[in-house]
Amino acid sequence: MVYYAGVDLGATNVRAVVGDDEGTTIGRSRNATPRGPTGIDVTEGVLETLRAACVDAGVDPEEIVAVGIGSIGPFDLAEGAVIDPANLPDSIDRIPLTGPIEKLVDSDEVYLHNDTNAGVIGERFHASRNPDDMVYITISSGIGAGVCCDGEIIGGWDGNAGEVGHCVVDPRGRLTCGCGHDGHWEAYCSGNAIPDYARLLAEDDPTISTGLPLEDPDFTARDVFELAGDDELADYVIDQLAHWNAIGVANVVHSFAPIVISFGGAVALHNEELVVDPIRERVSEMVMSNVPEIRVTDLGDDVVLEGALASAMTRGTGDRRRLRG
Ligand SMILES: [Zn+2]
Repeated sequence: MVYYAGVDLGATNVRAVVGDDEGTTIGRSRNATPRGPTGIDVTEGVLETLRAACVDAGVDPEEIVAVGIGSIGPFDLAEGAVIDPANLPDSIDRIPLTGPIEKLVDSDEVYLHNDTNAGVIGERFHASRNPDDMVYITISSGIGAGVCCDGEIIGGWDGNAGEVGHCVVDPRGRLTCGCGHDGHWEAYCSGNAIPDYARLLAEDDPTISTGLPLEDPDFTARDVFELAGDDELADYVIDQLAHWNAIGVANVVHSFAPIVISFGGAVALHNEELVVDPIRERVSEMVMSNVPEIRVTDLGDDVVLEGALASAMTRGTGDRRRLRG
């Protein structure tokens, strides 16, 4: 029997699964992502989580033949490390991943992907419809895409391709993105951005009534979606989000010609009717090429983790024709 492992390193949690040669999960583990002080502490947290998943599966780490990792970026791919991750403390400048995991499992088959690429790999492996051209888009605290074009996962030289959340959707640039530039898709439509966007729209038109706690520092995107249908401002925000989301998705369609686009990430997963359905309606009128099927991943919060495991089983591709066997 051969075994595979998948690792999902996020800013909040690190998760690991061990699967058998059919891809059935037989062990799993989850821990809070260490907050440092150094990147090595995060590496150790990852190794500990992977070891715990092995214990849960009753498998020795050395019995694992390949590991896939879906991780927050950005990367130094040559070193197999995360460099200066945005959502972890500043003292964490470098998180070695590939080398230490290769050592733990005694295999050099370790595939490192950014989390959205792991997402598209998971969709490719598990979705009932999995053409050679598909895109996974996450709308969560940020926005990003994993792209499979002509059967190849597009990683980019540094592993950071697919940063579609930093495409300009609003040339007026009214909101500044976390990356420091203006008008980016993520600066309007990510879970982190929605509260500020709601405040901006409220300032634009003070005659719009609202029960949203705009002044409350704990005001979140969830408040907006919860008041949908009952609050004039919430409905206006949701309508404007659909506008920018559709522009962002139309840009992705024209860039990569996907047959299927799958959405994941908390904002999309928890608000399919308010976020994804309006995108589907609008995009069909905005593209000059093939209108892709637009759906929500069936893998839910596990899409990155399942994608990492699928990567291990398919030599980093998610393509069932390339099963390691
Ligand atoms: Zn940006």
